[in-house]
Amino acid sequence: MQEDIHQATAKKLIVANWKMNGNLEKVVHDITCYTNNPSTNNHNVVFALPFLYLISAKHLLLNVNAKCKLASQDISTFNNYGAYTGEISGSMLQEIGISYSIIGHSERRLLYAESQEVLLKKLENAVASNITPIYCIGETLDIRNTKRYCEFLKQELDILFKLQNPFHSIIIAYEPIWAIGTGVTPNIQEISEITDLIYAFMQNYSPHAKITALYGGSVSDSNIKEILDIPQIGGVLVGGASLNTKSFIQICNYSY
Ligand code: PEP
Repeated sequence: MQEDIHQATAKKLIVANWKMNGNLEKVVHDITCYTNNPSTNNHNVVFALPFLYLISAKHLLLNVNAKCKLASQDISTFNNYGAYTGEISGSMLQEIGISYSIIGHSERRLLYAESQEVLLKKLENAVASNITPIYCIGETLDIRNTKRYCEFLKQELDILFKLQNPFHSIIIAYEPIWAIGTGVTPNIQEISEITDLIYAFMQNYSPHAKITALYGGSVSDSNIKEILDIPQIGGVLVGGASLNTKSFIQICNYSY
């Protein structure tokens, strides 16, 4: 697992978040296309598909010994097995070889009222199952305008220090809510400010832990170069543009 993570971060990480999109035909078509393309068939390329399609995608990747990885878009607060109707545990995801789990996406925080306590349990479960969390943080436009966004983001990061099981590797995705699906992105200085904040805030965590900061929110094939050129950026989380194979391959072409 550790070796996987090391390889995955050798190039900048590109995570495709399909959200609740696609169907089985698209999964087979797109994953086959990506495994046949050298810029996407790489350890640094991760597909966060709906739960239902993860096992089919895993088989497609295994059949051709592909290097790309899979992520779940969520994980249960409960681990192992039990009477939790509708839930998917970290153990189940681990069993089918899922490498990463998105936790705390703003859509889940807002639409499902996921609190910091809930997210802490999800983080614990991912870590206990050797799944690297992709922990999302991000402020609303109102919070940004009040200039309290740094405090707000630090509060979202704070739960990482409450984890009982220490993590060896974590991905922290800065996704300003006002940039998600809007076509509006922060400028390079604004992204750098938050990446620096993430590394500074996390520096007191175990010196052995690997922290990677991503940016997410309206990443496209036209802005990817300037975003990945930010030296401290570890990669990007891509929503809408990851649904189009041509755009996504273009985006992955810029990872180095
Ligand atoms: C997201 O919601 O994780 C995301 C990055 O979306 P988009 O790229 O569509 O803004």
